[in-house]
Amino acid sequence: MTEKKKLIAGNWKMNGTLEANDALVRAVVAGIKDAKCTVAVCVPAPYFAQVQMLKSGSALELGAQDVSQHTQGAYTGEVSAPMLREFGVRYAIVGHSERRQYHGETDALVAEKAKTALANGITPIVCVGETLADRESGKTEEVVKRQMAAVIHTNGHCISEIVVAYEPVWAIGTGKTATPEQAQEVHALLRKQLAAATAHAERVNILYGGSMNAGNAASLLAQPDIDGGLIGGASLKAADFLTIVAAAQ
Ligand code: PEP
Repeated sequence: MTEKKKLIAGNWKMNGTLEANDALVRAVVAGIKDAKCTVAVCVPAPYFAQVQMLKSGSALELGAQDVSQHTQGAYTGEVSAPMLREFGVRYAIVGHSERRQYHGETDALVAEKAKTALANGITPIVCVGETLADRESGKTEEVVKRQMAAVIHTNGHCISEIVVAYEPVWAIGTGKTATPEQAQEVHALLRKQLAAATAHAERVNILYGGSMNAGNAASLLAQPDIDGGLIGGASLKAADFLTIVAAAQ
């Protein structure tokens, strides 16, 4: 069996301009020529065409930050998985905590989005993670397991085709990172939960996200169940992003 590659995915969130993207993507493309891991950037939808063109001929993969659970029709403002496919999009983040928090996305909706993505050839990066209040009240395991269970239930035997991102909400954009041990503990329990549903749980990339940066990436990525990173702020600076990519060999 070929060894599983780590995945480093940038989440630009609602950032970027045509000019800034041009410089950032050119630098990333140049910097990942010898990368041993898979590298993706999840960009705002208006920039799909630009990034698709800039990455052409390189190993850089394109990702979206969300996808509709519907494939077509009267859903104003939504972007469908078939539309993503037309722009060469390979990944779609679903269930990011910012969408759960600001757009009221439920576990069931996130699971449906993952299902629609998979049915249309897009790999969902399913985000799960506890809030600070959850952690402080000892509910981390209960919360991430509940979020994951919905996705497993809805996606059945396709579950080994997803990517999971464990993103403790208290670590996102705060500069507070989970320790490698804290992250590994949750990754191991997610792996165990997947293993109860599929014989291929080892194949699933489980990413860590939450203030991963050039300084802490290596120790997080050295953990046995951390198969990559979902990177917010640090993905907007080519040098930082490439240092993380280099740590994921
Ligand atoms: C994210 O938005 O998925 C994320 C991990 O952000 P940051 O790296 O900025 O904490």
